[in-house]
Amino acid sequence: MGGVADLGRPPEIPGEALADVQALLATARLHRYAESPTQPTPVAVLERAFAGLIGRRYAVALNSCGSAMFMALKGAGVCPGDPVLMNAFTLGPVPGAVDHIGARPVLVEITEDLTIDMDDLRAKARSSGARHLLLSHMRGHICDMDALAALCEAEGISLIEDCAHTLGAFWAGQPTGSFGRAGCFSFQSAKHVNTGEGGILATDDPDLAAQAILHSGSYMLYGQNGTVPPSEVMDHWKTRCANYSLRMSNLVAALALPQLPLIPERVADWNASHDRIAARLALHPGFALPHRPQAEAYAQSSVQFRLPGASAAQMARFVAAVRNAGVMVKWFGTELPEGYTSSPPHWIGADASLVPRACAIQATLCDIRIPLGLSAQECDQIADTLMKAASVLDKEGTIHGRA
Ligand SMILES: *Cc1c(COP(=O)(O)O)cnc(C)c1O
Repeated sequence: MGGVADLGRPPEIPGEALADVQALLATARLHRYAESPTQPTPVAVLERAFAGLIGRRYAVALNSCGSAMFMALKGAGVCPGDPVLMNAFTLGPVPGAVDHIGARPVLVEITEDLTIDMDDLRAKARSSGARHLLLSHMRGHICDMDALAALCEAEGISLIEDCAHTLGAFWAGQPTGSFGRAGCFSFQSAKHVNTGEGGILATDDPDLAAQAILHSGSYMLYGQNGTVPPSEVMDHWKTRCANYSLRMSNLVAALALPQLPLIPERVADWNASHDRIAARLALHPGFALPHRPQAEAYAQSSVQFRLPGASAAQMARFVAAVRNAGVMVKWFGTELPEGYTSSPPHWIGADASLVPRACAIQATLCDIRIPLGLSAQECDQIADTLMKAASVLDKEGTIHGRA
């Protein structure tokens, strides 16, 4: 090890957030609700700000993005046993949210550009009868949202977006999370706003918002939420939703609020590092990088690349060589899930045999995280470490050029 940047370094907590947290601690009012509030809680302020940021009527702050996806599916009417479509390139909490409801993930193929395959989506919707799609903009890769919206409309599919990697990203000028019935965001330390844990759901649907507010544990104090559906909607749902205690705490909201204005500068920093590393890797014939459509304004806090044609043994040797040189690379083709990384065969309740192409793509797919503040020299060092390890495999004569 040594010499190369710590790729796992999370975004810093700004000084303003530290001061706000100290002031909040001094009041001891840490719970999400107060019986006699004197002013809006930090959670309520965050909900208003976030709804404005995404351009939706309601935001419901929760304890994780996993909870936000669970609440979005439930509020959209998914019941135990229902099939739920999802792209077969994602993180464990996504099939986990489907399992949480007792529903059944129906995996959909992906393309080499790491986005959902529209033809397979149409085919799987028809063959499974699924009426819901939980779409991950996984690792920041956004599919053609215009084509997707048209397909969902034509097939009667209700869309929920997992935007854990796309806070600050847009498709054709529109923020992710504002295309579907609900958008779900993560404030986990590795994402674009770092509060340790945390999530938020954004929607225009008053019934979905009302259920999320009540299920997340508002007691009968939901009037204190930042964005509340009309009283007739709340009156309908308030005796029909169990309390699951999934709401965000005031401490988390106080950490998050001062980070919202920083998102554009963070995105610029991540994209500069991403673009520099990706451009350098593209020069090496052993790597295949996803193409990025022009309509996508990404927020790329990681870099993905494949080594097409490499065997599992070669991939393992590549990963070991890169890690030995001090760069924490992740590989989606491991037999068992490793750290944060998993793939279709690992997901409970999912049938990986439905997505042979997604499995083949992930068998040679790697990923590196990008911390904020990398210098150009550090970016080049990371790319060179990857290229050097790939060149050793190249000499073995079995890695083919770009697909
Ligand atoms: C991190 C992540 C989640 C879950 O976020 P949590 O807040 O940890 O529950 C969901 N989807 C993707 C793609 C993620 O990377």
